Amino acid sequence: MARKLKDSKRKSKKPRKRVFVGLDEDGNPPEFPYVATASSAIHNRGLFAAKRIPKEAYIIQYLGELIPKKESTRRGLAQHDAAQESEDGSVYIFNLDEKRDLDGNFEWNIARLANHSCKPNCEAQDIDGEIWLVALRSIKKGEELTFNYGYDLEHWEEHPCLCGESNCIGYIVSKEDRKKLQKILKKRSSSKA
Ligand SMILES: [Zn+2]
Repeated sequence: MARKLKDSKRKSKKPRKRVFVGLDEDGNPPEFPYVATASSAIHNRGLFAAKRIPKEAYIIQYLGELIPKKESTRRGLAQHDAAQESEDGSVYIFNLDEKRDLDGNFEWNIARLANHSCKPNCEAQDIDGEIWLVALRSIKKGEELTFNYGYDLEHWEEHPCLCGESNCIGYIVSKEDRKKLQKILKKRSSSKA
């Protein structure tokens, strides 16, 4: 028994093996024929439909590294600070389950270029533990691909939305928090008047 304990102790000192999602044996990302990248009117570079995309199509997988929650918190803060400093970039971490998150902050994860919209044409879905952007409707060739980033209300003021849709609330928040933010904004504007 003692020996077993010794073994497991030594094992725990080994650096964590890094797990990358979606790359092939040579470390290359797959091709996603539905998407092209180009500069976006919403923000920086964006993702666009390279051809017509039917409703409910799996458009592109959100690739990245599987990381434990503790590491995720650390990286999330670092990405947030870097984004604030450069007024560019974002936090690219998805909540997967109670133990792990997916960090998509890698150049080979081109899904990270998809912008947020208040009226998105895609949705990020968990498909058996993989995150895919799925078409919410039929999408014309050349349309920008967007999804709701699903941010909670914490720090909402730091995430202005420039999607330009008629229903744009002005900030990036999850569908569920839109109503709450509307109330906050209403209160604020009436107290200013
Ligand atoms: Zn918007």
